[in-house]
Amino acid sequence: MAVNSGEAKKVAVCGAGMGGLAVALGLAKKGFQVAVYEQASTHRELGAGLWISMNGARVLNDLGLRDELTKIDLPPEDRVVKLWSTGEAWSIYNKQAANSKDHTLYMVLRYELHRILVEALEKLQPGCIHLGHKCVGFEETDDHVVVNFSNQPSVTADVLIGADGVHSKVRHQMFGEVKQNFTDAIAWRGLVPIERISPQYQAPVATTWVGPTAHITCYPVQHKGRQFFSFSGQVDSEVWEQESWSDPGKLEECLMDFDGWHEQVIEMVSGADILYKWGLFTRAELPTWVGQRVALLGDACHSMTPYLGQGVNMAFEDSAVLTNVLSSNEDVSVALSEYDSLRRERCYKVVKASMGMLDVFHHEALKEEQSARDYIESQWSPERVRERYDWIVGYNALEVGI
Ligand SMILES: Cc1cc2nc3c(=O)[nH]c(=O)nc-3n(C[C@H](O)[C@H](O)[C@H](O)COP(=O)(O)OP(=O)(O)OC[C@H]3O[C@@H](n4cnc5c(N)ncnc54)[C@H](O)[C@@H]3O)c2cc1C
Repeated sequence: MAVNSGEAKKVAVCGAGMGGLAVALGLAKKGFQVAVYEQASTHRELGAGLWISMNGARVLNDLGLRDELTKIDLPPEDRVVKLWSTGEAWSIYNKQAANSKDHTLYMVLRYELHRILVEALEKLQPGCIHLGHKCVGFEETDDHVVVNFSNQPSVTADVLIGADGVHSKVRHQMFGEVKQNFTDAIAWRGLVPIERISPQYQAPVATTWVGPTAHITCYPVQHKGRQFFSFSGQVDSEVWEQESWSDPGKLEECLMDFDGWHEQVIEMVSGADILYKWGLFTRAELPTWVGQRVALLGDACHSMTPYLGQGVNMAFEDSAVLTNVLSSNEDVSVALSEYDSLRRERCYKVVKASMGMLDVFHHEALKEEQSARDYIESQWSPERVRERYDWIVGYNALEVGI
């Protein structure tokens, strides 16, 4: 139950995406009365893969989702880096490696994870997800917050959580337009049924292909017993693109971006039914993520490049810490300012680290085979990998803010 009060606190969450559903589930489990407002009129998550690292997996396991996640996960046998031109592979860690436990992760389809979160939340508080509610703003006072929608009556709550993604309306009301900066890179993503992949390339391995001006990460995922490879490739580009994850792109264009790459890459990108293309942007750091009764979470306050696969993991960490502080403080504004001070610095450090990976993945040394070998062996040595990832995946959000 909410601390010291006879009545459960009411929490309104804008956005039924990954972070919004996770925080709503966490709070519902602690006895808060949650209501999630989603602009879309149906649940339609994107058909792309999601890489949940240990820091995010801890949160999902604690929400009671371990068994369901195990059903939809397709754990890779190995995690490798491959050279764009020759396909030569370097193993970073495999199931037998000493550090494999720290790198345990789930590789799932977004659609499946979204379904699991929705089902768990609906089971706990039936009817708490309200589709077709586009948040347009809010008014906060000392003792409540009113949330306004474009097409539905306003609602009142004790707390509002803005989990409404990169184009957040809650953030907009707090800070106005926050400048977005194009990072001179675009991304491609797609999903390929495994039967379209040649048998010699079908092994369940998570791979990052690296090249001089692009890289592409792919891993196996499953849906209702069918296997796929999910891939996401990032390419240097001076051309400004839209920041939308659901705009289709042309195969010829994608093939031009990977011209001269190994046949395994060409076969994979050619096998996707639909290729999506979008521009990669960053935003200036916000001075705070909270108001008196309003908090931002996930991409709404720290959208990031995908180079460390941490966007959703940070949203899950946020959701656990926000649940912790709201459960252990009666005073909402005290709880929110604690959340702000516990989370902002870490997330922005991850945002910077993620951006920094572009120069590691795309490097001149990768042009030629011999210099590429030396480069990969130094950049992905066990020490470098530990340095790069351990501080991220070792963070236990469940212990923060209690
Ligand atoms: C192809 C792809 C692959 C990715 N892979 C990974 C990965 O492997 N690992 C990783 O950690 N991260 C990954 N990410 C990033 C990750 O998906 C995001 O960081 C994560 O989804 C952020 O969660 P969120 O809840 O903040 O936002 P979202 O999941 O985007 O959810 C926002 C929700 O808010 C709703 N909404 C928006 N505006 C309003 C409004 N005004 N009113 C009401 N509702 C609204 C939206 O419809 C949406 O449902 C990937 C992203 C993409 C595009």
